[in-house]
Amino acid sequence: MVSFELARHLVEQHAAGVHPGETETADLLAALGRVLAEPILADRDFPPFARSTRDGYAVRAADVERVPARLAVIGEIKAGDSPETCTVNRDQAVSIMTGAPLPAGADAVVMVEHTSVVERPYPNAAENATLGWGTQLVEIQRSVKSGENFVPRGAEARAGQLLLDRGRKLDHTGIAIAASVGKTRLPVFRKPRVAVLSTGDELVEIDAMPGPAQIRNSNSYSLAAQVQNAGAEAVRLAIAPDEPRRLRALIEEGLSCDLLLLTGGVSMGKYDLVEQVLAELKAEFYFTGAEIQPGRPVVFGSCGADTPVRVSAAKPASAWVSVSAPHKKHFFGLPGNPVSTMVTFELFARPMIEALSGMTPQPLIFLSARLQSEIRTKTGLKRFLPAVLSGEFANAKVELARWQGSGDVATLARANCYVVIPPDRERIEAGEWVSLLMR
Ligand code: AMP
Ligand code: MG
Repeated sequence: MVSFELARHLVEQHAAGVHPGETETADLLAALGRVLAEPILADRDFPPFARSTRDGYAVRAADVERVPARLAVIGEIKAGDSPETCTVNRDQAVSIMTGAPLPAGADAVVMVEHTSVVERPYPNAAENATLGWGTQLVEIQRSVKSGENFVPRGAEARAGQLLLDRGRKLDHTGIAIAASVGKTRLPVFRKPRVAVLSTGDELVEIDAMPGPAQIRNSNSYSLAAQVQNAGAEAVRLAIAPDEPRRLRALIEEGLSCDLLLLTGGVSMGKYDLVEQVLAELKAEFYFTGAEIQPGRPVVFGSCGADTPVRVSAAKPASAWVSVSAPHKKHFFGLPGNPVSTMVTFELFARPMIEALSGMTPQPLIFLSARLQSEIRTKTGLKRFLPAVLSGEFANAKVELARWQGSGDVATLARANCYVVIPPDRERIEAGEWVSLLMR
């Protein structure tokens, strides 16, 4: 039995040693949620020209040091216009739009809100109504510093510079970056295949009518959903009974995938056979139990590369092949109670899946919020208790969900986070800041 922190550390250590699969190419939008296999570099300067961030007037800051100042408007530049359209000389301004290139000579933009067009600049001139560029005047009411209200060329990135590194999971920001450098297809890592194996004599498939003491194999689906959500492909195996021969055959089938997740059969009961069968397969165990609730019996280990593997459970028992896998295969034995399965997946299995997907390791992010009602509990375990985070703006508040223990998925479904209680706390008062893990 190890502490939560040590258990997580051990997983991270092993995750650092695994290798992602080959790479493949995906269409830009199909790459959403996939892991980038090659860095994306800027194909030109970003922005490619000095880009105005305001509607207003491009000016020389020196000309508007003292305000109000009157400048001759010599032209207009809108988004998409060439920056060579005009050059700003002394006491001149160019009307400019957001996203337009700064004209030569200008070194700042004055927001239109701080200007006014001089309607009749020449009281005695009859042509006031038909004034052209160069004879219109604008009055600047606020000074600007050189560099204000535009982004210099290449300020975000220089051509050739790294925009997004390999190992990043592509979300909409990554898609935007790829699109902005003109990539219609992206190299991504192949999704790892993760075997999901439910164990238990009480289990039936979800399309069968359960007997009075039988339970539908919902973990197989919830785990497959979590696996897919983490960016991998789930391979759901048949239900393993609490019987060593069949369990062993299915474990061996699961070990042909990149990772094996088992649920159930890791507690201390007479028919909890998972560890025993894995030990027969010469598994190495990194921990068997973590000081957490829910999920205390969680197991993590690996089977060596030369484990004999029966490729398909459908084939006769003689169909053994020695798969010389290049790396050892890791497995997690997750407790069977559905909430325990879900929590231990997130805490331990996810980082391993991410590593197998080629992702750069991500730390667990804890938030904090004010506890609304007192919590009393026992010491000894780090607890991850389903809770509801609410409150607007700066008033984040959290309250435990009233749950019936680690079988109660319905309550977890209504919760949106876990309150994390350190193992040495018996009582946490209302109003205290507590840490949270989002669900
Ligand atoms: P175990 O970890 O094998 O002791 O299982 C603990 C409890 O979790 C069992 O009594 C079942 O009610 C439940 N359970 C185990 N496996 C599953 C499963 N695959 N799907 C849904 N519930 C399960
Ligand atoms: Mg069981």
